[in-house]
Amino acid sequence: MLRPETIAQMPKVELHCHLDGSLSLSCIKTLAKNAKINLNLTDEEILEKAQAPENTRNLLEYLARFDFVLPLLQSYTNLELAAYDVARQAALDNIRYIEIRFAPEQHLLQNLTLEEAVEAVVAGLSRAEENFDIIANALVCGLRQSTLEKLEKLPPIFDHINDSHLVGFDLAGDELNYPQQKFSGLLAQVNARNVHITLHAGECPHCEQNIVDSVNMGATRIGHGIMSKNLPEYQETLISEKIVLEMAPSSNFQTKSVTRIEDYPFKQLYDMGVHVTLNTDNRTVSNTTLQKEYEKISTWYPDFGIEDFEQINHYAIDGAFIDIVEKEALHFKFTDEYKKISD
Ligand SMILES: [Zn+2]
Repeated sequence: MLRPETIAQMPKVELHCHLDGSLSLSCIKTLAKNAKINLNLTDEEILEKAQAPENTRNLLEYLARFDFVLPLLQSYTNLELAAYDVARQAALDNIRYIEIRFAPEQHLLQNLTLEEAVEAVVAGLSRAEENFDIIANALVCGLRQSTLEKLEKLPPIFDHINDSHLVGFDLAGDELNYPQQKFSGLLAQVNARNVHITLHAGECPHCEQNIVDSVNMGATRIGHGIMSKNLPEYQETLISEKIVLEMAPSSNFQTKSVTRIEDYPFKQLYDMGVHVTLNTDNRTVSNTTLQKEYEKISTWYPDFGIEDFEQINHYAIDGAFIDIVEKEALHFKFTDEYKKISD
């Protein structure tokens, strides 16, 4: 088992982090003030509303925690601040490259357009890059439970916004009641624009098929993909296609993807050669950091060493939605820095 100080030294990549689920307490308070919303709550009460309890019953109950912050994220200023805040926290977590995802359709309750919502987030990420040693990009996320009419407004965003920070597309939300098959037309529109795709899939029990369908629809990464443990015949495809699984231990237990550590497939998939990665999913909702997620993995699998953590970061870099030159630069930097770390 590695010491926390050793883990803290490791540079990290995070591919799966939701903006609205990752706001710091101080940021939530600033956003409320800007939005002239009197929360009338103590710090403890704010966190209680924003964090999911350890014993959440399922994915839907976990997702309900997001309702608390959404009213605060309805202006350009606040979205910019929120994006900056999450990238700032990531930099403090020794993350050098992060992709932060958000659903623009959830930020239109006042007078923002979809494009303005995206521009605000991108502006916050750019500002964070100026102040911290981090590259921060954005993913546009569609909500599965939304209407197809609303979802079809998302792919054209990539025609309208030409910013290097906007790097990919995701679908999140209730995959049990809104399986991947429903979205083939939408994904065709995303693929037609050559936009990188990652999709939440295989996060809940009985959702295995969504993994296969997501890959068939152009996803090169899968959000969570826990249920790939039940697809022995498909694991070879995940390996040969170098599909990256964005796993998030704390979140995966809270949403009841699995309930016992021995059923969590991270190490088994890693040993087979599947490109697994570690992520927070939602820093605030899950009350976590990437440091804590690494510590968890190191505790559960004491023989998972520094070189293994380095390997999953190289997998993450390979799966990142950036060009080959940027990837090479990150690979080089990570190889160099991991060489200097010893427990
Ligand atoms: Zn997620």
